[in-house]
Amino acid sequence: MSLRRDRLWLAFLALGTLCSALFALDVAADAASALIGVACVLAWAYGPRLHAVHPRRPWRLMTAAAAFFLAGIILRALLLDQPSPVAQLGDACTVCGFGFFIAALVTFLNRWGMDRRALLDGLIVCIGAALASTMLFVLPAASIPGRPPVVTLLAGLYPLLDTVTVLLVANLAFTTAVRQPAFMLMGAMMVLLFCGDLGYAIIGRQGDVVGPRLMALPFLFAFTLGGTAALHPTAKALGRATPLPIQAWSLPRMLLIGPAVASPFLLTVTLGADTRIERWALGAGGAAIVALLLVRASDAVQSHAAAQRRFEHQATHDPLTGLPNRRMLSIMVERLLGEDRTARAANVWMFYLDLDGFKLVNDSWGHPAGDQLIVDVGARLRHALPAAATIARVGGDEFVVVQCCTEPEAMANAQRIMDCVERPLLVVTADGGTAEIVIGASMGIVQAPKRTGGRDGQADALMRDADTAMYRAKAAGRNRWTVFDASMRDAVRERVEIEVALRAAVAHEQLSIAYQPIVAMHTGRPAGAEALCRWQHPVRGWIGPNMFIAVAEDSNLISALGAWVLRESVQQLARWRAGGVVDDDFWMSVNVSPRQLGDPAFAERLGGTLRQAGVPAANLVLEITESVMVEGSDLTERVLAELRALGVRIAVDDFGTGFSALGYLRRHPVTGVKIDRSFVNGLGSSAEDEEIVRAVVAMSSALHLTVVAEGVETPAQRDVLIALGVPLAQGWLWGKAVDPATFAATWAVRVALSGAAPSD
Ligand code: GH3
Ligand code: MG
Repeated sequence: MSLRRDRLWLAFLALGTLCSALFALDVAADAASALIGVACVLAWAYGPRLHAVHPRRPWRLMTAAAAFFLAGIILRALLLDQPSPVAQLGDACTVCGFGFFIAALVTFLNRWGMDRRALLDGLIVCIGAALASTMLFVLPAASIPGRPPVVTLLAGLYPLLDTVTVLLVANLAFTTAVRQPAFMLMGAMMVLLFCGDLGYAIIGRQGDVVGPRLMALPFLFAFTLGGTAALHPTAKALGRATPLPIQAWSLPRMLLIGPAVASPFLLTVTLGADTRIERWALGAGGAAIVALLLVRASDAVQSHAAAQRRFEHQATHDPLTGLPNRRMLSIMVERLLGEDRTARAANVWMFYLDLDGFKLVNDSWGHPAGDQLIVDVGARLRHALPAAATIARVGGDEFVVVQCCTEPEAMANAQRIMDCVERPLLVVTADGGTAEIVIGASMGIVQAPKRTGGRDGQADALMRDADTAMYRAKAAGRNRWTVFDASMRDAVRERVEIEVALRAAVAHEQLSIAYQPIVAMHTGRPAGAEALCRWQHPVRGWIGPNMFIAVAEDSNLISALGAWVLRESVQQLARWRAGGVVDDDFWMSVNVSPRQLGDPAFAERLGGTLRQAGVPAANLVLEITESVMVEGSDLTERVLAELRALGVRIAVDDFGTGFSALGYLRRHPVTGVKIDRSFVNGLGSSAEDEEIVRAVVAMSSALHLTVVAEGVETPAQRDVLIALGVPLAQGWLWGKAVDPATFAATWAVRVALSGAAPSD
């Protein structure tokens, strides 16, 4: 059914072509022309309903136009011999038809939102056409003597109505970019109507109103194409335009506008302007075209300038908040720093703030709620700060405020910024509800050096310093501000240098591993050893793990580094076991980072390493931090479970410093804890530390966990630990971490057997 509907236009086209052919061959010509006329009226009335075209209004107007045109043709034929004005009843219908037709085109144009420049171009074409029509047809027809005034009026009116149609068709063409079959059929119909009218205008110059029968053929074709357009499925698209992106004077447009602009000159040259009215018509038409061209040109220049401004604004402003972006800020700060401030109390201050935990807002309430929060923070900052302060959005949740002010003013501003961010905000959530959000910010503050000397890149340097201070504020616990000082820059530089060097060291395996004994208290002999990474920096000498492990964690080097340490220490253990340096129970403790435990293949790979080295899994203890248990994902938990299934033991390092909760220990497959050195330090002097250690021992024995105390330095600490029932310990009391050869020389089983075990 729908297929048949979609093909109806083909049937109509065939019918129209057949009728036109019959008319041309003078076979039942009147019936053929009447049939195609009625069919066209029906097509325009029914087509839009067939394809559910909206809006219907322009099509109703088209139907009325077709009906009047048809009535005009029939009446003109019937009343041909009647005296004037009865004979002109047909013309009256045709003029009404034009009225509806023009109204239909205007409705289409309105629907598409007529562009000002398209209208101007259309007007230029229209005036050119009107001038030609006036000079060629209207004036000659009007000057024919002895005709009733109504006939003279009509003779002048038809060509002018055609020029209005030309204007509207030109506008239609100038307004839409996509021209589908229905549009092209309508266009062809209008061209045919115009050609038909042109024929009558030409014979009208001699005063004739009736021409040879074939002169009606273009109208029949026009009816055919018009009806086909209404039945074509793309008629729907006529109701909605795809606007042209730029109203440029493209080549097709120039082909329409060019002759119109040239028309006053061409007409003057070819026809001459003999009468006053002709001179007036040509003069006024030419002047109107020039005026329109000027308006069009200035319009083009202005819109170009506006586009330029819009483009510049887009390039320098953040689209979400409308605030200046990083680029614009850089330019503004550079300008501020260029001013001489040496003698003034006021200086340039920069405040760099980053919202705390903003990702959580996106994750919990949806991205639009996050956007709303950002827009709101921008507006609050604008409201809270002096008008002279520059506020920019330089990143996702990062804002920068810059102001030239004194130090007390800067501190007052800082407080204002923090206060205005912290105020609760109501946002619309993803599910359509509302939620109250309270968010904080971390802020870095920096003051520009007084003498900047107008160097390039100072604004970027200032932003870098403010950013560094902001990170300090984040590291110090968030929701606070930090004022930058030069030592922070040195620390950042040092960190970057260490990262670069560490990357090279990991790549070239310039790191080494030292082993510290973990001693069984009752024998004084090592039950195991902790593998500790050491790095001999070519310039700085030995760098401790405290410094470089943190850098490795931040720069993602930790995975490669951790994997190497594990492999190396397992192989070392294998060598010691083979060489009789250690007995079968001796274990190796190796630190693993949360990042390593987030690798789904970690356990499998470690199993391979152990198998290859021939070391039983139970002789390896992996030391994890408390944060792994607290913040670990499902994946981390799975990896821990796999490691336990493998037989590897898992100990919690630095126990007692974090969120030590019994629940975590029960929930995770942990086999032991390491009491942090900070508690061991106080043993013998702090009753509180003693109680903590006692509690840890009690809890561990309840959960069947091994307990190791670390950082034991004095015999007194050792004695308390023994008294508290801690069986294992490590610390300088027994020995620092040493290279494998020294470890073997000092702690080998055979050394112990020969009675040369080191004393306290
Ligand atoms: P921190 O406390 O360390 O600052 O962490 P945070 O959660 O605030 O996250 P961070 O500052 O590291 O990252 C900002 C996030 O903001 C990253 C990105 O997902 C989000 N974001 C970036 N641009 C937009 C944006 O235009 N709209 C929204 N809704 N979110 C954005
Ligand atoms: Mg943030």
